[in-house]
Amino acid sequence: MTKDLEIEPQRHFVTGGAGFIGSHLVERLLAAGKRVTVYDNLASGRLTWIERHLSNPAFRFERADLLNADRLTEEMANHDLVWHLGANTDIPSGCEDVNLDLRNCVLATHNTLEAMRKNGIREIIFSSTSAVYGEAPESPTPETAGPLRPISLYGAAKLSCEALVSSYCHLFGLQAWMFRFANVIGARMGHGVIFDFIQKLRRDPHHLEVWGDGRQRKPFFLVEDCIDGMVSACRRSDDWCDVFNLGCETTTGVDRVAEIVIEEMGLPDVEVHHTGGRRGFPGDVPVLMLDTGKIETLGWRARHTSDDAVRIAARRLLGKEQPAAVGSASDGGTTQ
Ligand code: NAD
Repeated sequence: MTKDLEIEPQRHFVTGGAGFIGSHLVERLLAAGKRVTVYDNLASGRLTWIERHLSNPAFRFERADLLNADRLTEEMANHDLVWHLGANTDIPSGCEDVNLDLRNCVLATHNTLEAMRKNGIREIIFSSTSAVYGEAPESPTPETAGPLRPISLYGAAKLSCEALVSSYCHLFGLQAWMFRFANVIGARMGHGVIFDFIQKLRRDPHHLEVWGDGRQRKPFFLVEDCIDGMVSACRRSDDWCDVFNLGCETTTGVDRVAEIVIEEMGLPDVEVHHTGGRRGFPGDVPVLMLDTGKIETLGWRARHTSDDAVRIAARRLLGKEQPAAVGSASDGGTTQ
């Protein structure tokens, strides 16, 4: 059913749909003529990102918590598929409040799967993360890497969620597409290194504190590419429970991110100071390279290099460039 995303009149249930990625996904689904329900407690999502849809009869917003299992089960009734994006996304906070990821990732995912089972909904698209790999010995890291040893409670929780999704597929006949995202960037980001640098430089345009030694290096890719990638893989993979790396092959160093942000803000005189150490924060994976060969065999590839994506995202956050127009799910993006 999901493979016909561009033509079937489906009813989509989006947890975390008021968040950064979720709100872009909602635009895409509505543009493709789908009915969409967003279920979000606005912990990090924002009403302003979805409120223009409130007058659209194809759209419904439920402000509610994934930990409220009864409400979740009730609201999920009469949907065809679930995009499960709702989660704690603040990795450092998960270190301070050690129950945060357990509740908002693991329990929230269990509740989502149970609500699906009770409502007889079969298909789930799950946003996992490359943090499940921890400091993988294999780089670029393929989906088959293992054993997986996450180094953050966020990564551990997402890996637990993957295990729950897989088990529900086997036991109760669900079908799943799970995506281990690299760093997704774009307008509306509420966290992450580009967002942080802009905030810091707005407060003090002469000094920038960079967490770690600045040599951390990650793949950054745009949110519209992320959505294209998920749609493309769902259309083309018919496995009972498939998992894909989703990102780009190139990477950008954190110091380079700082340079790009400073250039785009037009600041002539910034002193960059490093806090030191390999990691930006506890649980940070200093160097990440993803092997994206699996999803590329299905015809999807990120449109931009990581450096270009960082520049575009910085420009969008600074209001210098409008986000790419949201196409219908049938425009295929970089799919072939
Ligand atoms: P986000 O914080 O903007 O979105 C998460 C959404 O979940 C928010 O709208 C928040 O309000 C909602 N939420 C959190 N806890 C909830 C709860 N208990 N009940 C109901 N709603 C709840 O972050 P995002 O970047 O859009 O992330 C979306 C998904 O993608 C997350 O699952 C995240 O782990 C995953 N992911 C994102 C990235 C990235 O780089 N942005 C990378 C890897 C994985």
